[in-house]
Amino acid sequence: MTSVPLSMVPEQPIAGWSGRCPARTRVLPLTDSTLPASAAESATLWIPRGGGNSFSDCAYISKGLTFSSQGMDRILEVDPDRGLVLCEAGVTNQDLFEFLERPELQAWTLPIPGGTGHVTVGGASAGDIHGKNHPAQGSYGNHVQAMQVLTASGHKVWCSEDENRDLFRATLGGMGLTGFICKVRLQLVPLPAPALHVQTRPIPDAMTGTFRLFDEEPAELQMAWIDLASRRTRGVFHFSRPTARPPRPPRRILRLPIPRIAFLNPWTAPWINRVIYRLHSHLDLVVRPREAHHPLDAIPEFQKAYGPRGFVEYQFLVPLEQAERGLQSLVEAARKAPAFHCVVKRFGPHPPAGLLSFAREGFTFTALFAARSGVFDVLDELTESLISMGANFNLTKDICMRSRHLEKTQVHLEEWRQIVRRWDPEGRIQSNLSRRLRLKPW
Ligand SMILES: Cc1cc2nc3c(=O)[nH]c(=O)nc-3n(C[C@H](O)[C@H](O)[C@H](O)COP(=O)(O)OP(=O)(O)OC[C@H]3O[C@@H](n4cnc5c(N)ncnc54)[C@H](O)[C@@H]3O)c2cc1C
Repeated sequence: MTSVPLSMVPEQPIAGWSGRCPARTRVLPLTDSTLPASAAESATLWIPRGGGNSFSDCAYISKGLTFSSQGMDRILEVDPDRGLVLCEAGVTNQDLFEFLERPELQAWTLPIPGGTGHVTVGGASAGDIHGKNHPAQGSYGNHVQAMQVLTASGHKVWCSEDENRDLFRATLGGMGLTGFICKVRLQLVPLPAPALHVQTRPIPDAMTGTFRLFDEEPAELQMAWIDLASRRTRGVFHFSRPTARPPRPPRRILRLPIPRIAFLNPWTAPWINRVIYRLHSHLDLVVRPREAHHPLDAIPEFQKAYGPRGFVEYQFLVPLEQAERGLQSLVEAARKAPAFHCVVKRFGPHPPAGLLSFAREGFTFTALFAARSGVFDVLDELTESLISMGANFNLTKDICMRSRHLEKTQVHLEEWRQIVRRWDPEGRIQSNLSRRLRLKPW
């Protein structure tokens, strides 16, 4: 049983990672033993929460209970011969990277480290996250062998491709709406070399020069940074390959006291981007894998540089043949509502792991729009135009979509709903995201 009656858990303010979608909720950190009792006792709606690194309103519920996995941080089993780990949902990617430094595990690495080490195993599975290596490795769910899920009935159920397959496919990428993932069995991948050789090339004209570089520079990790703030849309292409060369010493974490003023704004951004373009266009470094995967973790709280109103993270994916049109639409939107840069990644033809998974073959664009008045009108128009190109939107980031957009972009939505309704017939597991988008309309 939980020590505090659920009705006594105080409400607290909460928001997405960039400070958008503020709300109030009751957060209850759980352990493996208190979970079933809490879910069964709870008369209100509830939603799981991991590290809180999502930008959307997916990881909390107003006037409900937000069950946090942060007390569930044990690595329970490891098989060094087959590269399998079983861990609790609150273990982070950073914890796993550190764990894999043990001598008997150094032949293995994380398949999808994502963009920050603070993501939990539960959040990575529920968001079916991706990295800069999608063509090589697919998304997170492609490496999850099995999960133990606490469902709305208060029972813990194992699911995998062979057991409760419907629950497995609805839970991977299912945004926590099928139940609380308690444990995950993850397949690691062989570590090809202990370091990564990071190189870059300038892209003087991003509109025409970006996409072919993904073919011209085949590499384990690839991504393009594009300057959206300057008149010339140019960028830098980053590509990294495994190497046996020794990495440079790890970079220090920049614990700068970043004040919450809009340091990044339409006047400063072109100058900052000019410096980034100059400094980053010809990089040639050997770094440890974590440094290549999680560069933003070296600047904690960088989101404060967007000021008190924060920023709107917007991520979409278009089919390969629509890449130039997608970029053109994004550039036009960025001229109306300021967005200072975007990041482009390519996704390969791996089968989507879950029914609501974001990843499918194509190019994905992530842009950070300054949260100014009018930004949502611009993004609404952009969303409509991207949908006509066959776009899909990342639910861990979205704060703009409406339910009609979801119906048009999630091709397996009805199948997902039918499965989830069987596991949660009363619709007790809900988030602000699921209510905004009417994901579970029963
Ligand atoms: C700096 C930065 C860089 C990022 N880069 C990338 C990137 O490159 N690629 C990418 O895909 N994403 C990226 N993200 C987004 C992030 O990876 C996802 O939002 C991820 O889902 C967050 O995991 P979390 O543990 O913080 O979960 P939360 O943010 O707490 O929750 C995310 C979702 O998972 C559900 N959930 C969490 N724990 C559980 C559980 N135990 N059981 C069931 N459901 C659960 C929640 O209900 C919610 O719907 C980035 C985020 C940041 C802040």
